[in-house]
Amino acid sequence: MPGRRLLPEPFFAGTGLDRADALRCQPERIAALAARPDARQLEWDNGAPALGEDGRLRWSAVKGAPPLFLGLDGEVPHFSDLPPGDVPVDSRAHFGLLGQLEGEDAPIFAAALSLANWHRRHAYCSVCGAPTAPNRGGWSRACAACAAEHYPRADPVVIMLAEHDGRLLLGRQPQYPPGRFSALAGFVEPGETIEAAVARELHEEAGIRVRDVAYVASQPWPFPSTLMIGAYAVAKSDSLIIDRTELDDARWFSRAEIEAALSGEADAAFLPPPRFAIARTLIERWADGGL
Ligand SMILES: [Zn+2]
Repeated sequence: MPGRRLLPEPFFAGTGLDRADALRCQPERIAALAARPDARQLEWDNGAPALGEDGRLRWSAVKGAPPLFLGLDGEVPHFSDLPPGDVPVDSRAHFGLLGQLEGEDAPIFAAALSLANWHRRHAYCSVCGAPTAPNRGGWSRACAACAAEHYPRADPVVIMLAEHDGRLLLGRQPQYPPGRFSALAGFVEPGETIEAAVARELHEEAGIRVRDVAYVASQPWPFPSTLMIGAYAVAKSDSLIIDRTELDDARWFSRAEIEAALSGEADAAFLPPPRFAIARTLIERWADGGL
C-alpha cells in the first residue's frame, strides 16, 4: 500500500543517551566530563533543541559549565545549557520540528526539551517558596532554605482506541486540522490505574463502557512533559454520547475506512494523525492486526 509504514515504533521511543545516573551525584566528575575536549553541548533555537538540515540535533563544544548533563554516547559526554526562558513551553510551533527530526535523535530531543521546560517552571521551591538551583547534573533542583529536593516529573496521559464489532472509535479535538480524527486521550488522575483512566475517559468523552483494557505502548511527549500511555479496549456497545466541550465529533470507523486513511487515499473518510503521534502507531498496529 503506498505511503504505509507497517508496525512503527512510537516516535520518541528508543534509548537515547546513556543517562549515567550514578555520575549525577558526583559534581567533580561531571565537571571533569564537561572539560573533556570531545564534550558536546546542545544548541537551542527559539526554545527548542536546534536541528540541522539533516534533521539531526546540533551540538557544539562545551562553553563554561552547562547545568544539564544529558548523558553519554559511548565515552562522549553530552550537556545542555538552560535556554532563554521567554518562549512559551507548549509552543505548537515546535510540533513543526517533529516532521524534520531524525528518529534516532528523538529520545534526546524529548529528554532535553522536557528537562529544560521543567527547569524554566520550577525556579521556586513548592514547599517554602524560596529560590531553587539545579542539582544532580540538572536532574533535580535543590532548595537551600528548606533542604527540599525536587525532581522533574512526567504526567501520565492515557490515549486509547476502543473497538466495537470490528470498528474503531476515533474523535476530533477542536484544534485539529480539517478532517483529522485520532485516538481519545486524557490525564490519569491521582489514585487511578491506567485501566481505570482509560475506562473513565472513554465514558466521559464518548459515553461508552469498555472491558478488556490492555496496554500497548508508550511515548514520551515533551510538550511540556507527559508520558503518553497507549491502550486498547473493547466497547460494550456502540451508542455514543459525545462530550462536546472536549470533542468536536467522535465516530466509529470501519476497517476499510481506516485502511484508506492510513494509505493516504484522497477520498478517505478522515485524515489520520501524523507519524510522530503515538495515536498513529496504535491505529497502524490495529489495522495490521497487531493488537
Ligand atoms: Zn524550600
